[in-house]
Amino acid sequence: MSPSTPDSALQGKDFEVAIIGGGICGLACALTLAKQGVTVQIYEAASAFGEIGAGIGIGPNAIRILRDIGVLDDVVSKANDPSLNLRAFVFKSGMGNHEYPARAEDYGIGMHRASFLDALVLHVDPTITHFNKRCNKVVSSPSNPSRTMVHFDDGSHIETDVVLGADGIKSVVRTAVVSDQEVNIVAFVTDRSIEFGAANLPPSQPWVESVPQSEMLAEFDEWGSDVAGLLRCIKAPQKWMIYGVFPPLKSYVKGHVALLGDAAHAMLPHLGAGSGQGIEDAYLLGTLLGHSRTKASNLESVLKVYDEIRRPRAQKVWEDTRMAGDIYEGFGRQGFTPDGLRQDLSGLWDFVWNHDIVKDIQTAGEYLRELGTF
Ligand SMILES: Cc1cc2nc3c(=O)[nH]c(=O)nc-3n(C[C@H](O)[C@H](O)[C@H](O)COP(=O)(O)OP(=O)(O)OC[C@H]3O[C@@H](n4cnc5c(N)ncnc54)[C@H](O)[C@@H]3O)c2cc1C
Repeated sequence: MSPSTPDSALQGKDFEVAIIGGGICGLACALTLAKQGVTVQIYEAASAFGEIGAGIGIGPNAIRILRDIGVLDDVVSKANDPSLNLRAFVFKSGMGNHEYPARAEDYGIGMHRASFLDALVLHVDPTITHFNKRCNKVVSSPSNPSRTMVHFDDGSHIETDVVLGADGIKSVVRTAVVSDQEVNIVAFVTDRSIEFGAANLPPSQPWVESVPQSEMLAEFDEWGSDVAGLLRCIKAPQKWMIYGVFPPLKSYVKGHVALLGDAAHAMLPHLGAGSGQGIEDAYLLGTLLGHSRTKASNLESVLKVYDEIRRPRAQKVWEDTRMAGDIYEGFGRQGFTPDGLRQDLSGLWDFVWNHDIVKDIQTAGEYLRELGTF
C-alpha cells in the first residue's frame, strides 16, 4: 500500500494544518501529514502525551497504515509479544456444548495503549506539539473567512487554514462541524368530540395560538419520562390547528384552470406525504403542458387527463394520512397493542413511496391518443 507522494507535497504546501488532540488518531494523522510534507501543529489538552492503562487491539487494516507511515517496527518492539501475533475474534456459544458459531482471524497485534502511543510519539517532531492547550472554541477568522481560529482555555488562540478535530468522544471541534442539534417536535392531540369536517369547527378558532407550557404538558401527563423531558424543553409552545381540504374535490380542473399541491388536496401531515403528492402533480402537469402536441386548442382536454390521473391517487394518500393519524392515536383497526400497531403500520407507506410517475405520463399519453387529442 504505499501511496506515492506527490512532488508538490514534498515541495511544501501553501496551507497549514492544526490538529486538536494528541491521542492515537491525532498522532497517526500528524505522522501521515508530516510524511506528505504538510506543515502541521498538534494542540493537546493534557500536559504530556498519555493513554489510559488498558489494552488495545490493532487490526490488520491499521497495521498496514502503521507500516506505511514508518512506525510499525517501533510499535511491535514495544509490545509484550514483539511479533504480529495471530489474533482472532471467536464467537462461542455460552449454552449447550459451547459451539463456535463464527471466527474472524488475521494478523494484528494486541498491546498496552500507553506503549502504542509511546511508539507513535517517538516519530513526532517535538517542535510541533503544544501541551496544556485545551481547545474551547473553533470559529471562522474575523479578518479572513478562509482561515479558522482556534481558542484555548488559557486565553490564547491560533489561526490556521485547516483544523482537524482529533479531540476524542467529547470533541469540542465537533461543534464547529455539526450545527446545534435541533429537535423538531410535533405533538398531536385530537379532539374527537368534534366531528371531522369544516362545518363543525368552533367559530373563529385561530389557526395558530400560543399556549402555556402547562397546558401542553397536561395533554401528555400519562406519557413516559422521555416524552415529558422533551416536551419540557419547549418553553413557548404553539398550538396549530391541522387543516385539510375536506370533503375531497370532485375535480382539480375547470376549463383552463387547474389546481395542484395543497390547493387541490391539502392532507394531514401523518405520512409526511403532502409535498410529495404536490411534486407528482407538478411533474405530470408540467410534462403534459410541455408536450409537443399540447396546444391552446387542446388545453382543456390535457388538463382533464391530468385530473383523471392525479386525483384518485392523491385522494387515496389523503385518506391514508387520516388513517395513519388514527393508528398513531390508538384508533387503528387492529387495536392499540404492539402487535395491532405493527399490523396497522405495516406497508402503510408502500402506496405513497412506491409509485411510478413515468407510468402515469405514459398512461396520460395513451388517454390523450384515445381521445384523439394527441
Ligand atoms: C472499552 C473500549 C475498548 C476499545 N478497544 C479498541 C480496540 O481494541 N481497538 C481499537 O482500534 N479501538 C478500540 N476502541 C476505540 C478506541 O479507543 C478509540 O477509537 C480511540 O481511542 C480514539 O482515539 P482518538 O485519538 O480519536 O481519541 P482519544 O483517544 O480520546 O484522544 C483524544 C485526545 O484529545 C485530547 N483532547 C480532548 N479534548 C480536547 C480539547 N478540547 N482540546 C485539546 N485536546 C483535547 C485528549 O486529551 C486526548 O489526548 C475501544 C474503545 C473502548 C471504549
